[in-house]
Amino acid sequence: MSNTSTTSALAPKGPQYPEQVTGMYILAKALKNIGIDVIYGLVGIPVTEVAYMAQKEGIRFVGFRHEQQAGMAAATHGYLTKKPGVLLTVSSLGFMNGLTATTNATVNCYPMIQISGSSVREPIDLEQGTYEGLDQLNVAKGLVKAAYRVNKPEDIPTAVVRAYRAAISGRPGGVYLDVTEPCLGAVMDKADADKLFFEPVDLCPSVIPSDESVSRAVEMLASAKRPAILLGKGAAYAQVDDKIKQLIETTGIPFYPMSMAKGLMPDNHPLSALSCRSTIMEEADVVMLIGARLNWLLSRGHGKWNPAGKFIQLEIDPEEIDCNRPIAAPVVGDIESSLDAILSKIQGHKFAMDPTWVPSLQAQTKEKNAKFMERLAPQTVPMTHWSALSAVKKVLESHPDVILVNEGANTLDDTRDAVDMFLPRHRIDCATWAIMGMGMGSTVGAAVATGKSVVAVEGDSAFGFSGMDFSTICRFNLPCTVVIFNNGGIYNGIGVNPSGNGDPAPTTLDVKARYDKLGEAFGAQTCYVTTPDELQKALTEAIASKKPALIDVQLAADSGKESGHIGYLNPASLIDFTV
Ligand code: ADP
Ligand code: MG
Repeated sequence: MSNTSTTSALAPKGPQYPEQVTGMYILAKALKNIGIDVIYGLVGIPVTEVAYMAQKEGIRFVGFRHEQQAGMAAATHGYLTKKPGVLLTVSSLGFMNGLTATTNATVNCYPMIQISGSSVREPIDLEQGTYEGLDQLNVAKGLVKAAYRVNKPEDIPTAVVRAYRAAISGRPGGVYLDVTEPCLGAVMDKADADKLFFEPVDLCPSVIPSDESVSRAVEMLASAKRPAILLGKGAAYAQVDDKIKQLIETTGIPFYPMSMAKGLMPDNHPLSALSCRSTIMEEADVVMLIGARLNWLLSRGHGKWNPAGKFIQLEIDPEEIDCNRPIAAPVVGDIESSLDAILSKIQGHKFAMDPTWVPSLQAQTKEKNAKFMERLAPQTVPMTHWSALSAVKKVLESHPDVILVNEGANTLDDTRDAVDMFLPRHRIDCATWAIMGMGMGSTVGAAVATGKSVVAVEGDSAFGFSGMDFSTICRFNLPCTVVIFNNGGIYNGIGVNPSGNGDPAPTTLDVKARYDKLGEAFGAQTCYVTTPDELQKALTEAIASKKPALIDVQLAADSGKESGHIGYLNPASLIDFTV
């Protein structure tokens, strides 16, 4: 008897069994079908195979050590690419860890989709106690832009398209997609499953502003004596860099960038009013907000702002208008459509700008910048934030294409002020909520989304929130350098515990900690530096290597003040914590 006949004798008789697939296959394929090429996440029951399926479909899976950081990566990916970043989490705690980042993305208008596995519905609804049982959809609902649950494998492609549309259309944000364990594990014939996919048409439709709103805005801008353009991260997100440049350069109106809009126009551009924030607030008579909200970061339109000043606002979300201060000329539309309309209307318009306005801002800029450079001049050792930043500034400004991720208190405020940016979307920080704990996630997301080198400048406290995910940078061999400014504490390392019981003060961390050793554990290049010269050399070499690197920057424990630039937000205090 030949081998062939033996095989055929063992083969099942009767009809051919059709190939079968699970909901996990359909989910991976639906994501691929809509153009998702990276998923960030952390696997376990019930989503492990989703990640394997994604890899099989040619989607990159970037696995993290903590879901919050995977979510920060997805959010940054969304911000930089204008396509939703995708986060995959397990049920209960994994879901909740990730939800923090999805909520933060929603606050910041970054498009992302958190897909989480969830346990069987029935025992959750009857509160009978089940493995990782949590009513995740209802937990997510109040915290994200949109939330959906999918229960049947046949509905997965529709659910993915809905989540995608919700994340990027209108004001972008975080979307939650709950996929139940039975749905993930459901089995279907592959031939039937493959018929479910469809090509969605016009995934992010333009929002065209009304002609009347554009005329009103142009009239107001043209009649201003001391106009200013305020650029926010919505303007950077919109990826209309040439149109923004055209508006500013054809009108000659000075601009002020919010933190993450730095570099949208070069910080050293002759029309940059970056160093004249107070003057813009106090003296401008018309301010055009482009993709920026008049929230707490702009004193909600009050405080120093000229009470007689008028605002024009280019904004996609009509509900944002008037939310803090009356907007004289709202232009509701997507920034690209609004700028197109404004640029075509502006042609031939006469502008009434006071000819002394720009020169006076330029003179002020020169004076303020010279004064600022005095802070950076002393090469103080042990290093202060400023002496360390004098080195970081030199290196980063000679590598403008490196993306800068930045978080901390003083480390955030001082780095933002010290390091000029020259290219759009090259600065990512803790943004609207001013949170800590986005560092390693955003660093990975920025490197993966763009393929560029990234430098994260982190306070020692800020690094603590996400430090373990430095190992993710190493496992994926990303061209990222993490620079830790160690002053040994939250704000600084000189807090004193008033009880005298020997415990550290609430703000005290470890000024002697050797974070470089932590980098060594994961095979990164590491360096411990104590002078600005050493820091300059180490950072230059780390960037040139295009490999994972960690630089521990030893600061003096007394460098840095409580809450950095926003100490005024603390409730009134009667204690000096440092004596
Ligand atoms: P910043 O913190 O830099 O001031 P915000 O996040 O406060 O920036 O504001 C960004 C604004 O941009 C949000 O109100 C958001 O709705 C808006 N926005 C985002 N994308 C677009 C777009 N494509 N077109 C118009 N507005 C947008
Ligand atoms: Mg610190």
